[in-house]
Amino acid sequence: MHNIPSIWFPTQLWIDGHWTEGDDTISVTNPADGKKIADVSLASKNQAIIAIEGASRAFESWGQTSPITRGAILKKIASHLLSDQERLARLLTSEQGKPLAQARAEVAYAASFFEWFGEEARRLSSRIAPHPEANREFHVLRKPLGVAGVITPWNFPLAQGAKKLGAALASGCTAVWKPSEFTPLVALAMASVFADAGVPDGVIQIIPGYGDPVGVTLSNHPSVRIVSLTGSTATGKRVMAESSSTLKRVSLELGGNAPFIILPDADLDQVAADLLESKLLASGQVCVTANRIFVPEEHMSSLADRLVIGLAEKQIGPGLDESCHAGPLIHKDAVDRLTRLVDQALNAGARLITENRSFESIPFANEGSYFPPMVLSSVTDEMGLSCSEIFGPVIALYSYSSIKEVIYRANQTESGLAGYVYGKDIAQANHIARRLEVGIVGINEWRPLKAEIPFGGIKESGIGVEGGVEGIDEYLDVQTISLPL
Ligand code: NAD
Repeated sequence: MHNIPSIWFPTQLWIDGHWTEGDDTISVTNPADGKKIADVSLASKNQAIIAIEGASRAFESWGQTSPITRGAILKKIASHLLSDQERLARLLTSEQGKPLAQARAEVAYAASFFEWFGEEARRLSSRIAPHPEANREFHVLRKPLGVAGVITPWNFPLAQGAKKLGAALASGCTAVWKPSEFTPLVALAMASVFADAGVPDGVIQIIPGYGDPVGVTLSNHPSVRIVSLTGSTATGKRVMAESSSTLKRVSLELGGNAPFIILPDADLDQVAADLLESKLLASGQVCVTANRIFVPEEHMSSLADRLVIGLAEKQIGPGLDESCHAGPLIHKDAVDRLTRLVDQALNAGARLITENRSFESIPFANEGSYFPPMVLSSVTDEMGLSCSEIFGPVIALYSYSSIKEVIYRANQTESGLAGYVYGKDIAQANHIARRLEVGIVGINEWRPLKAEIPFGGIKESGIGVEGGVEGIDEYLDVQTISLPL
């Protein structure tokens, strides 16, 4: 029942519509039990260049196709994804660790971006602007940039690829996709989905590989006109530096440090339920997850009581076991890092209110990379938990005493991705939301992300947006022609 699916596609590089062996391989393991799932080919620098050159050739015709044709292909990708949802979700859970229900939701979320950009393609219109001379006019054209380098992380390995590829293909760009070295399988599984939907050879190349050399080559190769990265802020800075040599466009979706502000009139039952769901999604390894939870002093113990009860009801274990609410972290290094972060906070005065170690009794728990979801109180702004992205299932509670103070503290970070405000007085919540220095705010909502809206960070959380009508602009150049009539 909990078996990993057999791998139904070659685990090689997908270049110009053919499977090609890489120069090296990596073993992809299941974080739930440490067992190998498959050996996967890794691209060398030279193979990355071959993939870029192929995408460049494919752009000559793909960039000229009607946006309506491109849109129809994208919508076919969405429907093929949904018809293969179960198999893809099982694969995703096996290599990433998240519970199956969350993996199914990720497949549907990925499909929504192909569907959305499939629709947006037909709205790719240019415009005519008046010229001061009566016998001329300006034609303002929107043209695809060329080859897009697409670099994705391991936490949402399918959805992050879908956001970028949907927008890139709709605009007329071709793409070279480098998935994370930890989760390349679901990306490779997409090769046949793309081919069956009618994506021509070379329009999407899929080349697993390390950041260096593959990500670096995508960032500095002159034929790549945009690099779109979702990853850590440190990687974003490297990509931006590498890309500057060819002055290519960058679209960066980076790390967050989301404040979650609970107002005195908030519904604490809803707050506790939403916090638990949010922190158990991908075991808290989510860029927009609540990192610093600000609680009115007078509500601290009532909220903590609710979290203790709620967390005790959750089961932590292998994602393929349908009774589990959260799975392991991505690897043991992540467990070690988080353990250090929590230990530092406890040594500096934070209090452990509760933790859930229900995974300890399951087979192979020691070989898996489990970390107990936990609630900490008395966390302060000086602790590492506050200054860094926790990226794990730690609910860190900070107390505050005034609205002015909490807005100030919420903004004391270089990150600016997401924020949350919970309270019954919507006018007050809205007032606070507008003062948060972040790209998106959920008021009484913990996951406001959808294909229909733009999402992107400010400050050190990124440049540009994905999704919405704005998402396609990342992949377009503007060309103006002054035309005699
Ligand atoms: P990471 O930065 O380690 O890796 C991301 C990708 O970049 C991987 O494919 C990696 O191989 C590649 N890479 C590494 N070094 C590179 C280099 N020098 N040049 C080019 N590419 C390179 O991030 P991760 O650990 O895979 O993912 C977690 C991070 O991603 C977190 O910080 C999280 O907040 C962020 N994230 C952001 C969003 C968002 O939408 N803002 C969404 C998901 C994850």
